[in-house]
Amino acid sequence: MTMDNQVQKLYPKGITNVRGGDGVDLSEKIKILAESAKYDVSCSSSGSNRKNSPGGIGNAAQAGICHTWSADGRCISLLKILMSNDCQYDCAYCSNRRSNDFPRASFSPSELADLTIAFYRRNYIEGLFLSSAIEEYPDRTMEKMNEVLRLLRKKYLFNGYIHIKGIPGSNPKLIHEAGLLADRISVNIELPSEESLRLLAPQKKRQGILLPMKQIHQESVKYRQEKKIFRSAPDFAPAGQSTQLMIGASPESDRQILRLSEGLYQKFQLKRVYFSAYVPVNTHSRLPLPAGPPPKLREHRLYQADWLLRFYGFHAEELLEPDSPDLDLHLDPKCMWALRNPHCFPVEINRADMKTLLRVPGIGPVSARRIVTARRSGPLHFEALKRIGVVIKRARYFITCQGRYEGGPDFQPDRVHQLLVREHRLEASSFNGYQMSLDEWMEGR
Ligand code: SF4
Repeated sequence: MTMDNQVQKLYPKGITNVRGGDGVDLSEKIKILAESAKYDVSCSSSGSNRKNSPGGIGNAAQAGICHTWSADGRCISLLKILMSNDCQYDCAYCSNRRSNDFPRASFSPSELADLTIAFYRRNYIEGLFLSSAIEEYPDRTMEKMNEVLRLLRKKYLFNGYIHIKGIPGSNPKLIHEAGLLADRISVNIELPSEESLRLLAPQKKRQGILLPMKQIHQESVKYRQEKKIFRSAPDFAPAGQSTQLMIGASPESDRQILRLSEGLYQKFQLKRVYFSAYVPVNTHSRLPLPAGPPPKLREHRLYQADWLLRFYGFHAEELLEPDSPDLDLHLDPKCMWALRNPHCFPVEINRADMKTLLRVPGIGPVSARRIVTARRSGPLHFEALKRIGVVIKRARYFITCQGRYEGGPDFQPDRVHQLLVREHRLEASSFNGYQMSLDEWMEGR
């Protein structure tokens, strides 16, 4: 059933409203505001777009419903929607910018709360991802979004997952209230530097973004500690905070982007930094924007590097150096690091500690743990590594098993570089439209 059918079934007569009494019905409003929300990637949307086929069941759409993962690994479907796309700001890269001439719509808090509950009761969704353009001014927007949450939590006693966007520049009291009502809050960092923010999103201020992030972090820590003493203490954003960073709209290098991400993880304990490749939606030639999007692989490489920061013990400074500040599109960041540090290889699999194992291309956290456990029962050979889940086609260049090397006559970085680039080219040629699974990232890199 399409979103239109769903809405018509729920509200057969439609609900009219909006901007200057334009009389946009609810179905149209959902279409506009779900479409406008699709560029926000910080809720882990699946991004797929597939229609039901005759005799089939279900469909997936790029906009409207997205997926995220709960702490126990369950996939949750969320209604992903904007409160309003009627923005007062004029960010150069955004389709909702004030100077664009296209359909605008806004929900009232009760409309959006009713819609969420109606969808929930019919099992279409399990939660809500709510964002908004700046309608009137930041505090007004945040108040309206909080009102949706209040209605859901207090009137409908809705206990499902809610992810809300913190509106930069809004009053700390409103951020506080949002944190007490939502599971996750995310404030988008938007662009990698203050200069780019000034150029492309002049109404946004770096401090207006960083201050709510800091507040969310501090309050999360405070409420977690209180909860240890008083079990009845409320939760504050129990699913933590995340952010979204646009890449390719401004000239910052991957090194700057990764250093910023690392800083955000360390300073504010963010759960995720989501990278969003710039999509040229505004075509006015006078805007200070690149003509096209960045290469698809750039976003992918940044995500791989981000995983190395979060799960493999790497630091941004190690992955990229000032004189080569961008990730190689032909090689993944872990292979790149290994080839720049030949003195660390080959690693003897039967002796290396966990930290060293994690630095070997083709070995991820799960296989590293399995290696450490399995070798307690005796020395490991290449065959055993395959069974354990090591990606041998990559790892063989960087390891020995009981002194045996299977990556060629001996470890020669230049030759290994050529072979890996060839393999990666094959991988890249099949990359178009292909999304790597989490396991592949974790274990294959
Ligand atoms: S504030 Fe900027 S990025 Fe956000 S909706 Fe408005 S124009 Fe778009």
